[in-house]
Amino acid sequence: MSSDSHTDPPSAPALRIKAIQQLLTEKGLLPTGAVDTIVDAFEHRFGPRTGARIVARAWTNASYRKRLLADAPEAMGEFGHSEDPHIAMIERTPTIVLENTLKVHNVIVCTLCSCYPWHVLGLPPNWYKAAPYRSRVVIEPRAVLAEFGLHVPDDVEVRVWDSNNELRYFVLPLRPAGTEGWSEERLASIVTRDSMIGTALCKAA
Ligand code: FE
Repeated sequence: MSSDSHTDPPSAPALRIKAIQQLLTEKGLLPTGAVDTIVDAFEHRFGPRTGARIVARAWTNASYRKRLLADAPEAMGEFGHSEDPHIAMIERTPTIVLENTLKVHNVIVCTLCSCYPWHVLGLPPNWYKAAPYRSRVVIEPRAVLAEFGLHVPDDVEVRVWDSNNELRYFVLPLRPAGTEGWSEERLASIVTRDSMIGTALCKAA
């Protein structure tokens, strides 16, 4: 029988989650529909395309870049904040934008668990949540980055930023050479999720 057959009972964790959700709703701790709204936002609203648009605007608009570095949640909100209070709360998570330069390369991690700027990058990749990345990137960042295929020159300082529940980080990657005169939309198309984590560079291709 296929595992997605509707005649199969839900898994034990799925039943447990449903029971907890129902209990929280009955106790008035979780408004009806709140979980569906949040799941829908993760499916349709949050994701690295939003982050890519933010980067492309920062590359092309000096005053936007300045606002982004000074107050990221406010500047990121220029792409729209949700009317829903639960989603807006996620979108207003305190976030700091780290600007890569020719002298400094930034990379983000959450050594404790998996804190991540969901609203602009979506859900984190599995390796971001895995113990080897979380423990090693703070000890030997250059070696870890090399395993991603990113060889940071010796004269570039690598800075590792440990995210937590109260503060998230987002990397503003370097704009690659050969992209002069590109539109914001075309620039956004070369901004990858990993470049906004700091484990990759953007390439004009
Ligand atoms: Fe975390």
